Amino acid sequence: MQQISVVGAGTMGRGIAYTAALSGFRVKLHDIDDSNLKQAEASIETLLQKSADKGFIDRDQSEAAKQQLNSENDLQAAVHEADVVIEAVLEEIPLKVEIFRKLDEYCPDQTVLATNTSTLSPTEIGAATNRPEKVIAMHFFNPVHKMKLIEIIKGLDTSEKTVRIVQDLGEKMNKETVEVNEFPGFVTSRMNCLIGNEAMNMYMEGVASAEDIDKALKLGLNHPMGPLELADLVGLDSRLRNMNYLYETLGEKYRPCPLLLKYVKAGKLGRKSGEGFYNYR
Ligand code: NAD
Repeated sequence: MQQISVVGAGTMGRGIAYTAALSGFRVKLHDIDDSNLKQAEASIETLLQKSADKGFIDRDQSEAAKQQLNSENDLQAAVHEADVVIEAVLEEIPLKVEIFRKLDEYCPDQTVLATNTSTLSPTEIGAATNRPEKVIAMHFFNPVHKMKLIEIIKGLDTSEKTVRIVQDLGEKMNKETVEVNEFPGFVTSRMNCLIGNEAMNMYMEGVASAEDIDKALKLGLNHPMGPLELADLVGLDSRLRNMNYLYETLGEKYRPCPLLLKYVKAGKLGRKSGEGFYNYR
């Protein structure tokens, strides 16, 4: 395994590209939007610099990672030599299906195609290709370079060989993996969305302030982050997409909190827009 191609250079794609390059893989990073691709290059460079300044990695590692990483605005050029492709575009099934059709056409027969979806079905995505046995979900967490877990989700036709390839990749990226059979929201998103939604409902009902809800879960239940600050970090638009999908597939328990809808309509998307449950300006 030598080349990892990452499709989508947003929050997750740039984190996956950074971690893969630091782990010694040749990385091609692609995005449909040139300005996002440039921003991703700049943010990866800043992160490499900061990590070296703080002594988390040495200068040689930082330089080697820079050499390993290339941006590519043409999808075919980005993936045609990939051993594994990791897709990290928006959480929308028609978009992911369209991209996997193209990946199937552009990649060599042996290439494994992974999606970083938080909730969607790798079976449905794999069915758009002629290689469903090589399609799998690799669910990374935000921020990728700090979070230890990759949740690996098998679709109906995913082969054991594909599972082993991505487990091995995860290990080389210094991550732990868990293997999950496909079901909406897997383990982590299903649990996390429910806790976050309950926290939003409590905040809307005036049970406590956002700060005190988060403090209660951190100090009383030993969560490293509060559910509202975590939702702000994920992005409230992304969280709403996940909630809507879980509501459609798993029912009433997952009905999105009305306040979440209102915030998204107002453009309050959390950290990325400067305001969500907290103000970051
Ligand atoms: P994001 O909005 O930050 O980035 C998405 C990127 O995809 C953008 O740069 C966009 O230009 C690009 N894109 C859109 N259409 C494209 C196309 N046709 N071809 C190439 N690039 C295209 O989103 P994100 O938060 O990084 O989420 C990406 C995926 O990762 C989603 O499936 C999400 O559910 C999942 N995920 C997100 C988080 C999180 O905390 N944000 C955590 C785990 C998994």
